[in-house]
Amino acid sequence: MLRQKIKTLDAVVFTHEHKDHIAGLDEVKAFNFFNKMRMPVYATERVLEALKREFAYIFSEDKYPGIPEIDVFTVTDEIIKIKDIELLPIDVIHYRLPVKAYRIKDFTYITDANYISEEEKQKIKGSKIIVINALRREDHVSHFTFQQAIDLMQELKPEKAYFTHISHQLGLHDEVSKELPPFIELAYDGLEIDI
Ligand SMILES: [Zn+2]
Ligand SMILES: [Zn+2]
Repeated sequence: MLRQKIKTLDAVVFTHEHKDHIAGLDEVKAFNFFNKMRMPVYATERVLEALKREFAYIFSEDKYPGIPEIDVFTVTDEIIKIKDIELLPIDVIHYRLPVKAYRIKDFTYITDANYISEEEKQKIKGSKIIVINALRREDHVSHFTFQQAIDLMQELKPEKAYFTHISHQLGLHDEVSKELPPFIELAYDGLEIDI
């Protein structure tokens, strides 16, 4: 966020409670200061419980000055409205853990999944841009592999797909890119997507 010089953040929407997806919550304090507002935070009940454990100081009654100031909203299966943006929550599976993916107009963001039911795929279909996790070539218990992610994108047929949550074991960006169908690219830090 610092490197990209991002000064405005409207809300934080959580997918699941694993540390690599929640550790940044403390950084919200900078946006409270920049934007002079409390930060709306969206999470399922289960993820909220994890946030309360991991960031007890943010939820404590006796607040220390300078900690992140957040307003929590519960994510269910209903559409979330943030300003004039609507997000549709989609259920994906990460080994045994339910994870929320989100669709905004024709853009769908899916991380930390290795299974998506046919019913949930219907919510994704028609997306022009999909971001999806593709961890590595070898099988993994809770993440799509490189080939599984390619197969899924060929099934869902977005105009453009980006692979994210990539392990260093996958290889170098330029070399791996050559193996991908033309509509799939590897995402990278600082990538901007207009929707
Ligand atoms: Zn995870
Ligand atoms: Zn993860």
